[in-house]
Amino acid sequence: MDFGLKGRVAIVAAASKGLGRAAAEELAKEGCEIAICARTAADLEQTAKEMEAATGRPVFWRAVDVTKPEAVSAFVDAVDKKFGRVDICVTNAGGPPSKKFADLSLDEWRAAVDLTLLSNVFFAREVLPRMKRNHWGRLITITSISVKQPIDGLMLSNCLRAGVAGLAKTLANEYGADGITVNNVCPGYTLTDRLGELFEKRAKDAGVTIAEIEKQSAAAVPIGRLSRPDEFAALVAFLCSERASSMNGTTIQVDGGLIKGLL
Ligand code: NAP
Repeated sequence: MDFGLKGRVAIVAAASKGLGRAAAEELAKEGCEIAICARTAADLEQTAKEMEAATGRPVFWRAVDVTKPEAVSAFVDAVDKKFGRVDICVTNAGGPPSKKFADLSLDEWRAAVDLTLLSNVFFAREVLPRMKRNHWGRLITITSISVKQPIDGLMLSNCLRAGVAGLAKTLANEYGADGITVNNVCPGYTLTDRLGELFEKRAKDAGVTIAEIEKQSAAAVPIGRLSRPDEFAALVAFLCSERASSMNGTTIQVDGGLIKGLL
């Protein structure tokens, strides 16, 4: 299937590793010009080098903290100046602390609002007017299966990602007539550093080994295993494609069937 993405300019946030990196790699394979950011310059440089070696295409990168609106604005501006347009934006950030309500301070709540909710707003404010000018755009928000089925112990994720799903759905309504689609994608248990951290905490809390938590988690997934980042990235690339031009305002999980609900 030809995704029709050759030459499209794609920003992928928080993409030095994990799901963001996998999404960037998949879009690069489809022929997009890629711009990535994360906070740690050394990791980004290494990731960009590896992606360039794999795809033969240059990767634009900049160290950006997505909780800082001025930094996001300068990054998007730099991408626009370099490539002359912005067609695709995949918003993403590191996960908020995994804690229960009683263990959270107000400062942690405020930091998580910036990281998990507002970072999407910062990117949307920058990219949507640019996409609107070209009457074409794809905005993808990365959240979690927690928007469909809250996960025990992840109060911040459960609460704030629901806001991102609401943001994406409302933007889909507001910008659909401008040739822009907005969709929300929800990873389940996917093999990245973040999952490793979550499993480590769960193992510590339960007094068992990380391997035991991994085994239990995989057993809970109908496909009998944890997902790979490239499986998640395949959906992102499809939703960015010409072929997905009528997919707008959706929230789709890539979770091996973990969510038990119908939708
Ligand atoms: P990961 O492997 O830990 O990668 C996180 C990426 O985000 C890194 O590139 C990191 O680089 C960057 N980052 C973190 N904070 C940032 C900030 N403030 N500004 C810019 N970049 C930032 O995590 P992941 O598994 O890919 O997860 C991505 C998102 O999906 C997270 O929100 C996670 O909670 C969510 N999620 C993951 C899973 C899963 O199973 N993996 C499931 C559901 C939801 P720097 O640290 O250098 O900034």
